[in-house]
Amino acid sequence: MAEVTGSSPVAPMVKIFILKMNDTKKYDLQTLRHSAAHIMASAVVELFPGTKLGIGPAIEDGFYYDFDLPKDETGKPKKITLEDLPKIEQKMQEIVQKNYPFIHEEIDKNKAIEFFQSRNEKYKLELIQEIPDQKVSIYTHNNFVDLCRGPHVNSTGEVKYFKLLSVAGAYWRGCEKNPQLQRIYGTAFFTKEELDAYLKKLEEIKKRDHRKLAAELGLFKIYEEEFGPGLVFWLPKGAIVRKIIEDYLRNFHLKNGYQIVYTPHIAKSDLWELSGHAKFYSEYMYPYMDVEGQKYLIKPMNCPGHVLIYKSQLWSYRDLPIRYFELGTVYRYERSGVLHGLMRVRGFTQDDAHIFCTPQQVEEEILKLLDIVVKVLNKFGFKEYSIKLSTRPQKYIGDIQQWEIAENALKTALEKINLKYEIDPGEGVFYGPKIDLKIKDALGRFWQCSTIQVDFNLPQRFDIKYRTPTGKDEYVIMLHRALLGSLERFFGVLIEHYCGILPLWLAPVQVKILPVAEKYVNYAYKVRNELLYQNFRVEVDDSDNRLQYKIRDAIINKIPYIAVVGEKEEKSNTISVRTLSEQTIVVYTIEEFIKKLNLENNIEN
Ligand SMILES: [Zn+2]
Ligand SMILES: [Zn+2]
Repeated sequence: MAEVTGSSPVAPMVKIFILKMNDTKKYDLQTLRHSAAHIMASAVVELFPGTKLGIGPAIEDGFYYDFDLPKDETGKPKKITLEDLPKIEQKMQEIVQKNYPFIHEEIDKNKAIEFFQSRNEKYKLELIQEIPDQKVSIYTHNNFVDLCRGPHVNSTGEVKYFKLLSVAGAYWRGCEKNPQLQRIYGTAFFTKEELDAYLKKLEEIKKRDHRKLAAELGLFKIYEEEFGPGLVFWLPKGAIVRKIIEDYLRNFHLKNGYQIVYTPHIAKSDLWELSGHAKFYSEYMYPYMDVEGQKYLIKPMNCPGHVLIYKSQLWSYRDLPIRYFELGTVYRYERSGVLHGLMRVRGFTQDDAHIFCTPQQVEEEILKLLDIVVKVLNKFGFKEYSIKLSTRPQKYIGDIQQWEIAENALKTALEKINLKYEIDPGEGVFYGPKIDLKIKDALGRFWQCSTIQVDFNLPQRFDIKYRTPTGKDEYVIMLHRALLGSLERFFGVLIEHYCGILPLWLAPVQVKILPVAEKYVNYAYKVRNELLYQNFRVEVDDSDNRLQYKIRDAIINKIPYIAVVGEKEEKSNTISVRTLSEQTIVVYTIEEFIKKLNLENNIEN
């Protein structure tokens, strides 16, 4: 850093430091983006004088800044809209052109308070009060001054490739009791190519948004305002996909040595006191219900229910492992602000299972689990993962030896099955180590799906044991695991991954039959019935729309096979089939077509 004489509006007499970094690549993307946030804030203040500043950090894909805008003639704070963004960008360009240096100063806290008071910056003042040091750090460019630890780029001219993206409401410090500010999101990159590639990806994300596609395809509905946010109504087209997934999961688990169980959605609060959820998980649970003077709670997890099923009889080491599987619907109190389509909801169904085993069986069980995780995720088309193993945290229960055995079991299993993983030291839950697996989607995004978790806690809380070969009763080890996680969320990921074009085995409608005229409707239904009889999902478009329109409609609805029938087809007992993506028409007899569908289904299976 170089010492220079300053001309700062805040404290003209103090020493000023300018970051001496002329090579633009010497700072990271975060620094570039955070600098862009300052430039955006100064543009907003210029365009809307009287705007008060919140905070403006760099985030994963860009930056934001929160603003409290002055009131307009109607007495309400002015609202920034998408239409304002080009104007703000234009102003930012001007600031970039001027190439103002970012000037860093360390000034007396009192001086800073005085300065921000003079500008009526109440949010900044609140932040300053919380700084323990007597000096505070500020950055200035042109006449814009911000309380900030930095670092920044040298000058505004270095922020060349940026774009403002969206506007959202955001409570000051994320708390609903505080005033709502307006947040502008943007992004910045070192090169134009990177910025363009990112904007293209954003377009693709928008195109694949599962909420938009689900509305177009009639998959699910959430009555956010009217009947409660985060609660999913599965429409028939979405529900059939869920049913296919559920059937697959049930059969898969039965084949892999699991037993299917069901547990109630509500239970007396005593269950949740015993499990510890009432104490440690209460912020995600809905309030008590009064039932005949007794307190009841709705379940946020399936685990205690499975424990009670295990507890219903005595077990010997010879009986273990016991594996219970449930498509268990749970309800969690998520703040309405964090809910998002199917990705974050208040009621959802987990493909949940609990394994009860001896300490000696843990490694073998984990190995089996990893094997089936990969099989299931592959089945849905996900082949790349990011895996984390979280180990013993500062606060934990159980003895260290037990933890080490479990952690080693997880490690050994991951290595045996040749899965790459990272260790997240100290990030395990207090009751045991865990493996988290994220899947990579078509856009390269990672989604949390599978979890495998060792638990030393619940068996002790519920006093569940097994008899050892020497006749002693020992606590059983419990493994929690979900493969897809939440069916709702997984469905959302599937829709976005496939852009709504689900593979044949999952498509809600696999074949649409289009009679070219009313005369051929009967034949169309005859074909449909033959396919239905073979368990395919088929619809007939018997509307009196023109054929071109019917084809377009089938394409919009992303139907994998479109079969046209007319005089020629009826006479030869055939169908003329085109696929969603290819216009080439192939003529099949019904038997040939059934063979083809079965083959494709089998490959997918
Ligand atoms: Zn800053
Ligand atoms: Zn569990």
